Amino acid sequence: MTIRVAVLGAAGRMGATTCAAVEAADGLELVARLDVGDDIAALAGTADVAVDFTVPDATEANVHALLDAGVHAVVGTTGWDDDALARVREHAAGTPGVGVMIAPNFALSAVLAMRFAELAAPLFASVEVVEMHHPRKVDAPSGTAIHTARGVAAARAAAGAPAMPDATESDPRGARGADYDGVHVHAVRLDGLVAHEQIFLSNPGELLTIRTDSFDRSSFMPGVLLAVRGVARHPGLSVGLDAYLDL
Ligand code: NAP
Repeated sequence: MTIRVAVLGAAGRMGATTCAAVEAADGLELVARLDVGDDIAALAGTADVAVDFTVPDATEANVHALLDAGVHAVVGTTGWDDDALARVREHAAGTPGVGVMIAPNFALSAVLAMRFAELAAPLFASVEVVEMHHPRKVDAPSGTAIHTARGVAAARAAAGAPAMPDATESDPRGARGADYDGVHVHAVRLDGLVAHEQIFLSNPGELLTIRTDSFDRSSFMPGVLLAVRGVARHPGLSVGLDAYLDL
């Protein structure tokens, strides 16, 4: 059966790339391109899945409107915090049968890097995350870096790993980066870059670097299409594409 797909933020960089990928994909039909001011309620009954690549200020309201319309949501827009995720989780619980996938990164290399970091994290004394992006990105650190840091912290906590060594007493300008559950995250903005992340894991005498690079927006499309095809089978809120992969 053909899956009818709408794209929110269709005129944006990721939205336009998604429209082209959906049009080229077997079994998917692009039925709507929505931008600022367009009516999401009108998607009820005409679209099965909507992909949101908009802006952090708009994405949560879009997802609530999609839930109200009974349209599955695949969300790549970043900027989500715990409270916003909790509100969507609660709304989705009251909307049985509708799935929401919020993925901070649809690139399979990034999804795997996050998983590898979780596996390795309890085995190393120190772990830090450095994300690097183009300077037009409006939020920092990246959603991927936050998701990575939280996964690392959770894996270390589950394994009973001790606190990381750090003698810093004075850091008036925040040079040690942002602290996510005890994992430091550093954001670099450089013209010419697209989306890159390195996870440094060290023990005395050794360093493991896990690195993922997206050179082009096409890197996100296999993951977006995988989510579009899978979201109806996963009612409720899922965070991170690994939830749909058997890793
Ligand atoms: P972009 O080029 O600025 O595109 C955003 C588009 O959304 C713009 O066309 C904007 O219109 C439109 N928009 C704003 N508010 C809207 C609303 N309420 N309803 C519908 N459309 C609306 O940004 P981008 O580079 O495509 O990135 C979009 C988001 O995806 C960012 O949060 C980025 O970090 C994220 N991203 C995620 C992944 C991933 O794998 N998860 C990968 C890459 C990027 P106007 O220009 O008229 O405001």
